[in-house]
Amino acid sequence: MKKNITKITIAAVLLFTGALHMQAQNKEPRTFSGRNPKTGVVRCATVEYGSYLEEGNTELAAKNANFENWISQKIEERKLQRNGATTNEVITIPVVVHVIHNGDAVGSGENILDGQVISQITVLNQDFRRMAGTPGENSEEVGADTQIEFCLAQVKPDGTAFNGIDRVDMGQTNWATFDDVNLNLKPATIWDPEQYFNIWVVRFSTSNSAELNGILGYAQFPEGSTLNGVPTDPQATAASDGVVIGYRYFGSSVEFPEGDYATSLGYDRGRTTTHEVGHALGLRHIWGDGGSQSLGTSNCNATDYCNDTPYAKWDNWDCNAAYDTCPTKAGADMTNNYMDYTNDACMNIFTQDQMTRMHTVLENAQRRASLVTSVVCQPTAANPEFNLLQGINLYPNPTQGVLTIATQDSQLPDSYVIYNSLGQTIANVAVKGAANLTVDTSAYSNGVYFIKVDKGNATKTLKFIKN
Ligand SMILES: [Zn+2]
Repeated sequence: MKKNITKITIAAVLLFTGALHMQAQNKEPRTFSGRNPKTGVVRCATVEYGSYLEEGNTELAAKNANFENWISQKIEERKLQRNGATTNEVITIPVVVHVIHNGDAVGSGENILDGQVISQITVLNQDFRRMAGTPGENSEEVGADTQIEFCLAQVKPDGTAFNGIDRVDMGQTNWATFDDVNLNLKPATIWDPEQYFNIWVVRFSTSNSAELNGILGYAQFPEGSTLNGVPTDPQATAASDGVVIGYRYFGSSVEFPEGDYATSLGYDRGRTTTHEVGHALGLRHIWGDGGSQSLGTSNCNATDYCNDTPYAKWDNWDCNAAYDTCPTKAGADMTNNYMDYTNDACMNIFTQDQMTRMHTVLENAQRRASLVTSVVCQPTAANPEFNLLQGINLYPNPTQGVLTIATQDSQLPDSYVIYNSLGQTIANVAVKGAANLTVDTSAYSNGVYFIKVDKGNATKTLKFIKN
């Protein structure tokens, strides 16, 4: 017999007003397909967390069921638009790291040192950019510089200066269940997920009966868009968006040896977070989640929707490049892919198709596209340039004719550039007076455009639609 409870949580600092989450009680214990039978660790709980979110949320389940249909259309549109052209447009995602502790001194237990946090951002950039002198350099030819970077946010939601590390004493030693994290931790600590990519670093409970015992980390998958036939999301998952990582799997013992890491397990080089951020940007496990080594199930037809990651019948836990678990399909298992379950020292590759998926998500998905244009990594603490840009709006949007760039006070930006979805410049305007803040779009063809507004050293990019 199941009984539904509803819990409403309001995070007042956020732009959205609340989150409604329905959760079934009296559940059977959850089985994790990625629990290593030898060590007991769960390399990743993203699939199970996705199921958890869908329980009692039929709208989200419908939306998720439509995700591959939605993104495959977006990928096709993207290919047609680009027509084979390659671009060098590096995207930077602003990150806030919430270090969740129980009153410990900094550097003690789960209240990890700044250096350990910073080393994680370093590893994300090494892995996503396939940087020279880092493991990605040795990956095979299909390895991608994804042109995605990460920065620690430099400004808090209230406009004051910040180093990107938000230490929060939650008065609780550890976290035992998805419910506890989603209903208590996240709503109390999340920052606007349209502007910040939220990472929580926590101590998971190690009690044998705890749902999250042994888990390294998990991510919230993107939900596509509110457009294009995908249902809207009345039971908001906005208040839980981001990734959650166990503190001893966060950061890199190579980059910052002074930190506290699960070195003996081989998860001490920051690739738990690389993997989970891959999920948050739309990547699936390379074996397509059809089989599970620990559950003894296999499936050589499950796909991760990337053509350059060979089929595998299940997850791999060690770095054997000779594994070919689906010999009737082309290619050996890509055990070194960040989206397999191997140890940190093994992983060194995102592929071209994985890069395309992530960029398509970043260009189109709810709470992802807005991250790309967020200005919170610019060191603009409490400064008028930042505040001016924060207050800028475009109206009407969508537009058919004259578009107005509205500022909240009488200050003017210095200039702005308008470009189309291919990155081509349509207009470049120096702002001399208020008259320069209206744009006649009547001659523009229908579609998506961007306006990059400059003030001093700060910039903000806004999107508008001509129809
Ligand atoms: Zn995973």
